Amino acid sequence: MAKHTVTLIPGDGIGPELTSAMRRVVEAAGVDIAWEVAEAGAGVVEKYGTPLPEHVLESIRRNKVAIKGPITTPVGGGFRSVNVAIRKALDLYVCLRPAFSIKGSGARYDDIDIVIVRENTEDLYAGIEFAEGSDAARELIEFAAAKGAGIIKPDSGISLKPISISGTQRIVRYAFDYAIANGRQKVTAVHKANILKHSDGLFLKVAREVAAEYADSGIEFEDYIVDATCMQLVLHPEWWDVLVLPNLYGDIISDLAAGLIGGLGIAMGANIGADYAVFEPTHGSAPKYAGKDMANPTAEILSATLMLKHLGETDAADRILAAVRTVIGAGEKVTYDIRRSVTGSTDGSVGTQAYADALIAEL
Ligand code: NAD
Repeated sequence: MAKHTVTLIPGDGIGPELTSAMRRVVEAAGVDIAWEVAEAGAGVVEKYGTPLPEHVLESIRRNKVAIKGPITTPVGGGFRSVNVAIRKALDLYVCLRPAFSIKGSGARYDDIDIVIVRENTEDLYAGIEFAEGSDAARELIEFAAAKGAGIIKPDSGISLKPISISGTQRIVRYAFDYAIANGRQKVTAVHKANILKHSDGLFLKVAREVAAEYADSGIEFEDYIVDATCMQLVLHPEWWDVLVLPNLYGDIISDLAAGLIGGLGIAMGANIGADYAVFEPTHGSAPKYAGKDMANPTAEILSATLMLKHLGETDAADRILAAVRTVIGAGEKVTYDIRRSVTGSTDGSVGTQAYADALIAEL
């Protein structure tokens, strides 16, 4: 029997080619994993009547650990995000996205070392929405007016932004515990509490209370308004350490952080809860590159290093990261995105699988 069993969701778009490269690299690093492949997304709707069949969630519940490729979400209509549904169904309340510089990535900065801890279940991502013109929207508009909460235009669509005490406590505690366990210095809570007094205001109040619990931990705490955070991240990326954010800001700042380190092609991530963990890159399914053997599998592979650490396979994780640093640092066998950032042209770039081969040769 294999040492570990992991659910593998290839996803769609560039997902299958990235997860196949990831799998080859992890296997070449000598980790004994049995992969339980489970398909989700638009491709399975016809067969199962849903983009997220129950057996996929059952597989993750059984194995406790999964890694996935991105899954396309139809814009506007169609089914809701499968990615968000997995996080909600398994209560994966932490979205962990370390963003650190890799020499040779072509990024504007070379000294980034930021960890994003994004709340993953609440906020505007809760999926509680009322369509324009619906009875529910009309009732909500009447309710807000009757309560003196404010006038909402009758032709409005409405999305709710719930933020709870318990949800905030657990994400901020995770940020502090992560900081302590990983030798970090500072946790910054990011918010817009000056405007959103009852949602972000609560987030900030609870974050301060949790920070007080950690007063003796040696971890510094500060808070910052999200718009100012964006500017200062670009002006002074070296100021930041661990950032803890409500869901939507975490989503946006994750892409900003990806930009600081050289793009989505290298931005890793993990969704973690009390019982289960699902690892996936920050980026989406990039449909225009699907099936072209062009996309950069680094984000998927680095997400796998987070998974390997979670599984206690730290040595393999470190060797894979070292191989990524060596190959990207050498600049000869890199995918189109990195090549373009470094040289201004994609000439001389290699494909997804050839890059994975270069990593394997370094392991
Ligand atoms: P995206 O991240 O898929 O792509 C944006 C651009 O980033 C691409 O066009 C490409 O230029 C670049 N890029 C992304 N990944 C790359 C890689 N590995 N290598 C090289 N370049 C890469 O964002 P999008 O176009 O906004 O979203 C496409 C679909 O993915 C949407 O349906 C969206 O909902 C979904 N999505 C899924 C997830 C997920 O599965 N967790 C996350 C984000 C978006």
